[in-house]
Amino acid sequence: MWYNDSSKEIMINFFILHKDCSYLVSFAIFVLLCLLPRPVNADIIEKLNVPGVALTFDTCETTAPSQFDEKILSYLIKEQIPFTVFITGKFAIRNKERLREIARLPFVEIENHSFYHYLHMERLNADKIKKEVMDIDELVRKMIGKKTKYFRFPGGNYDARTLKQIEDMNFKVVHWTFPSGDPDQKITPARLTNWVVSKTRPGNILIFHINGRGYSTGDALPDIISSLRKKGIKFVKLEDGGL
Ligand SMILES: [Zn+2]
Repeated sequence: MWYNDSSKEIMINFFILHKDCSYLVSFAIFVLLCLLPRPVNADIIEKLNVPGVALTFDTCETTAPSQFDEKILSYLIKEQIPFTVFITGKFAIRNKERLREIARLPFVEIENHSFYHYLHMERLNADKIKKEVMDIDELVRKMIGKKTKYFRFPGGNYDARTLKQIEDMNFKVVHWTFPSGDPDQKITPARLTNWVVSKTRPGNILIFHINGRGYSTGDALPDIISSLRKKGIKFVKLEDGGL
């Protein structure tokens, strides 16, 4: 950049030395590109770096106590399909036995969806944000003996400060490629299947809910999986997604 005297000097010398017009044009373009404001890199991960597809399931806190959706869980376990659960604090405590059982399976990954699932973490102060991430991380570590490494913001809401703080804590923030819409009570299994199958491409991160709020997910999942398999898609845990 040209903000100090030596840089200016180099630039002036360059102009003197290279009077050739084509040089000048290329140089001017180069300078312009350097001076253009660069887009701020939002480091939210929305795609994998491998051709597989990641099935991710959130256990968002609900007003009424919720349990694992056994229709979804038993299907995935029976078929041994790799999947990732984004877990919250109260849900983990309430479902600790089941969580321990599934975490032992080699095709299951447990990740961090905050402790209390505040829908607007960007409104919390730094201490509270740290607590939200670390409390559930420690709980998961105690329960399954493994640290979480990926974080998903409740409701997908964040700002630059919150994102930076969580990244500085060595977590990668992972959202999704497109919303499945499964918390919508009006969506039928057929509609959910059509939507997800038509939108999914290799490398996508799919999001569903496994806390009873994916109303049609349990019914739709076998069709979604078999349709995607017919398209040649393989499923991977997030940690195998090259992130
Ligand atoms: Zn959530």
